[in-house]
Amino acid sequence: MADQPIYKRVLLKLSGEALMGAKGYGIDGAVVDRIATEVVEAYRLGVEIGIVVGGGNIFRGVSVAAEGGDRTTGDHLGMLATVMNSLTIRSAIAARGVPSEVLSAVAMPTVCDTFTQRGADAAFAAKKVVVFAGGTGNPFFTTDSGAALRAAEMNCDALLKGTQVDGIYSADPKKDPTATRYETLTHQEVLSRGLAVMDAAAIALARDNRIPVIVFSIHESGSFVDVLLGRGRATIVTP
Ligand code: UDP
Repeated sequence: MADQPIYKRVLLKLSGEALMGAKGYGIDGAVVDRIATEVVEAYRLGVEIGIVVGGGNIFRGVSVAAEGGDRTTGDHLGMLATVMNSLTIRSAIAARGVPSEVLSAVAMPTVCDTFTQRGADAAFAAKKVVVFAGGTGNPFFTTDSGAALRAAEMNCDALLKGTQVDGIYSADPKKDPTATRYETLTHQEVLSRGLAVMDAAAIALARDNRIPVIVFSIHESGSFVDVLLGRGRATIVTP
């Protein structure tokens, strides 16, 4: 018998930087194509997939604030950046013959539908990959929090964070050679040890709603499918 996925519905969080590839800014079409292929492979296992993508490859509100600008306006721009990334991912998935829809927390009806839980339920029922754009729709939040929020609202079995490395480390392994990797952690340990994998609001929301967080490398091909099949290299955060 073929391997069966261990989750029915998951929320995949990708940072904007994941779409940037080796470029210093923006979207690398080849990287988007590779990620879309991985999503389609996962979809073919029968898993319902929601995606939240960040906007850091284009715009971050904090960088506006750091230069003395208005944080709220900067965050609005950041949310618009997530819509750009979401539309790009959606069309790459659709180009592979899998139905996909963008639902945005920020209303822009000529571009995509606005997020509602009912609309998202209908999209999942129609077997679409649902891309949640616009983060939470509020300034002073991040798309990590948006991902935890949508995972809770949409009753996802797990929040999968695709990162640049293969799990959660005690320090940044790209900067600190003594950094060690965790196999498992609790949400509380992530918070109390100050591990910089997601912001604290996102981890707390996942903890309070008992949603496991699985951190894996989005750059290793086949890793998303492996995580859905309960194998592969990842750090698993459970209550
Ligand atoms: N943002 C926001 N509210 C949200 C989600 C995102 O204001 O709920 C803005 C914020 O300015 C943030 C930017 O959008 O810097 C991009 O999101 P994020 O930093 O989470 O992207 P990532 O780091 O995942 O690429």
